[in-house]
Amino acid sequence: MLVAGNWKMNLGMAGAVDLARGIAGGVTEDTVDVSVFPTFPWLVPVSDVLDESGIVVGAQNCYYEDAGAFTGEVSPVALSEICGAVLAGHSERRHILGESNELVGLKVEAILRAGMAAYLCVGETLDERQAGQAETVVYNHLESGLAAVDGDRLGRIVVAYEPVWAIGTGVAASADDAQEMCRSVREWLAERYGEQGQDVTVLYGGSVSPSNADELFACDDIDGGLIGGASLEAGSFLELVAAAGRAAAV
Ligand code: PEP
Repeated sequence: MLVAGNWKMNLGMAGAVDLARGIAGGVTEDTVDVSVFPTFPWLVPVSDVLDESGIVVGAQNCYYEDAGAFTGEVSPVALSEICGAVLAGHSERRHILGESNELVGLKVEAILRAGMAAYLCVGETLDERQAGQAETVVYNHLESGLAAVDGDRLGRIVVAYEPVWAIGTGVAASADDAQEMCRSVREWLAERYGEQGQDVTVLYGGSVSPSNADELFACDDIDGGLIGGASLEAGSFLELVAAAGRAAAV
């Protein structure tokens, strides 16, 4: 099981460092991997706090070139000096910042090339779900996001199924719907990569909270969660880590 906290564009330095300390001091589950994704400026202080904690520090975004004249962008190679992972294709980047499927695929490849894990976020909007296109959209996200990823590097891929309509809304997907799509993701991975595809960590994200985590994490094809709102407070995040620990114990 894996529980990942996406802190988005939140917290000042003191808040981020306090949150990291609170999480590091409270994680007792050795069956659950934990990662946190602070905003860029706090990657270094948060990494300092989490050094030797076993908690992975990741970035929320990066560019796809290693270096050069790309003012304002952040190199995956530079990030790899302090990060173990980077998010790619989060719906807020796809829908607010206009990132295309192709750009997300380039970023995934660059993250792997720099030696880090890439968390590929996939998921449909409400309109797409209502039009019966949810699975097609998710398959397109997988196809383009993993276009340059061969089986040898699949071990550093995490797929997060995050229906856009569930992110930050307080309305999570039902456990049945989340399970069904995560199973489809796993089937797609198995078809594309064979047996290696079965071992990819598949997360659910979208309004996961202490009140629904047990039900979601108990699903066969859900290996944990990518958490936004509930990751901003150590107590609630640790409750989710504990829920993942219970699911791992079954
Ligand atoms: C996210 O940002 O990836 C997310 C799932 O947010 P929230 O948990 O707040 O819905």
